[in-house]
Amino acid sequence: MDKTKTTPSPNVVIVGGGTAGWMAAAAFARFLPAGWTVRLIESDAIGTVGVGEATIPQLRLFNAHLGIDEDAFVRATLGTFKLGIEFVGWSGPKSSGDSRYLHAFGTIGRGMGLVPFHHYWLRGGEAAGDLWDYSPTAIAARGNRFARDLGRTELPSGVAWAFQFDAALYAAFLRRYAEARGVERIEGQVVHVAVDDGNIASITLEGDRKVAGDLFIDCSGFRGLLIEEALHAGYEDWTHLLPCDRALAVPSANAGALTPYTRATAKEAGWQWRIPLQHRCGNGIVYSSAHLSDDRAADILLAGLDGAPLADPRPLRFRAGRRKRAWVGNCIALGLAAGFMEPLESTSIHLVQSGIARLLQLLPAGDSPASAAEFNRQTAREWEAIRDFLIFHYHANGRDEPFWRACREAAIPDSLAARIALFRESGRIVHESHELFTEVAWLQVMTGQGIRPQAYHPLADDLSAAELAEYLALARRHAQGVAARMPTHDAFIAAHAAAAPTTVAA
Ligand SMILES: Cc1cc2nc3c(=O)[nH]c(=O)nc-3n(C[C@H](O)[C@H](O)[C@H](O)COP(=O)(O)OP(=O)(O)OC[C@H]3O[C@@H](n4cnc5c(N)ncnc54)[C@H](O)[C@@H]3O)c2cc1C
Repeated sequence: MDKTKTTPSPNVVIVGGGTAGWMAAAAFARFLPAGWTVRLIESDAIGTVGVGEATIPQLRLFNAHLGIDEDAFVRATLGTFKLGIEFVGWSGPKSSGDSRYLHAFGTIGRGMGLVPFHHYWLRGGEAAGDLWDYSPTAIAARGNRFARDLGRTELPSGVAWAFQFDAALYAAFLRRYAEARGVERIEGQVVHVAVDDGNIASITLEGDRKVAGDLFIDCSGFRGLLIEEALHAGYEDWTHLLPCDRALAVPSANAGALTPYTRATAKEAGWQWRIPLQHRCGNGIVYSSAHLSDDRAADILLAGLDGAPLADPRPLRFRAGRRKRAWVGNCIALGLAAGFMEPLESTSIHLVQSGIARLLQLLPAGDSPASAAEFNRQTAREWEAIRDFLIFHYHANGRDEPFWRACREAAIPDSLAARIALFRESGRIVHESHELFTEVAWLQVMTGQGIRPQAYHPLADDLSAAELAEYLALARRHAQGVAARMPTHDAFIAAHAAAAPTTVAA
């Protein structure tokens, strides 16, 4: 940006046309004031990372702000609806088969006054049954059911949902949206980035084409063409905290009903994802190369598919961590250029979304070191909170393989240790405003992976034993009633968001 004042017609240049680039382009096309120009450079020859299929409910807000119709979006991306993530085997094998639990979206029961619901559930002990019997979303997910509009329910339904979709189709969908609103796409490979006094001055494409700009958005993927290779933002490496560094991705034919949830199954040195879409199932294995060879990982992945593989497994390498500064000078990194945390809780696309929202809030009006500092401060806090949530899954595992024993024994951040200690001691979960994952998310993952509080909130003793039993029974009936009103997920898609059969077969 101009050093002293707002440029009259600011010129924004986005480098990269993956999910991050086109999400940014679509949001800028919708929200930047008249007079700003937005151009996006991408290279078909380089392509995109091509994975990123599971999301969290916040994406509904992003689409809604853009005015995108939900069914049209699901149809265009051959998507399905997602009520949560099923974790299988993280606590090791049980006598009844693999351990499993859901991180379901939405609410679980209803708190009373100051006391969150789960303290009453804890007080109820064994008689209170399974935590997820109080989650309408979990009951619906287990029954392969889905609906959006439940008509009038006595209490708020408590259901929340996200999507599973073909990431390439989402980028294409947003490209159509952005181009229709004036974003110019430039095809070409960046061969040089000119830096002047800590700012990007211009970008040169093959064929000696120069693209100048005021504000540059680096969405160039893992390499961080602008933010790292040109501006040297630095990378905070979290491999010691999140040791998986490779993935293999493979699509397979659908087999059986479309489950309205993603599955994450723990394997000998990592975990395998399963994401059902309308036309295929997305699968992949995330693993630690220090503990598992690529060949063995491929064998595990292919042995764990529900349907026939539709391609050869595609390798991806990464290093968990984040750019030390996602905003440097006049350049802001989004998506993989800003850093990467494995897709265990489907957070990467959300981090693109929250980065865009933060950038729009702090939109620079000239030289902007204070805005950049604030952006970087907020980004660090948000990433670290998600990182802790992911580490917890590894730390609190109950498996026997060397990889899992090492994860259990590895040092964890003080912030996470304090959170676990608080829950263990008192059942309390504190949620701070910058944290993506709520009390209900932490509750499910901590309960699902075997942490049992030694006490519940003393105020939960306010109810008599009979009142407590009635209160819990009401919450269970509500959750079951909400789920029972839903059609099957397949039936819902067929009625509202099915893609044309030719598209699905393609
Ligand atoms: C194994 C794995 C699984 C994942 N699963 C999920 C998931 O389930 N949910 C989720 O939310 N996220 C997931 N992600 C993350 C998700 O894929 C990314 O966050 C998302 O796709 C955004 O990628 P991107 O746009 O930043 O980068 P990319 O898709 O890599 O796009 C980079 C763009 O930059 C362009 N480019 C690069 N270099 C040049 C150059 N020299 N000149 C011109 N153009 C250039 C490329 O052509 C491309 O258009 C996953 C990631 C991995 C690795």
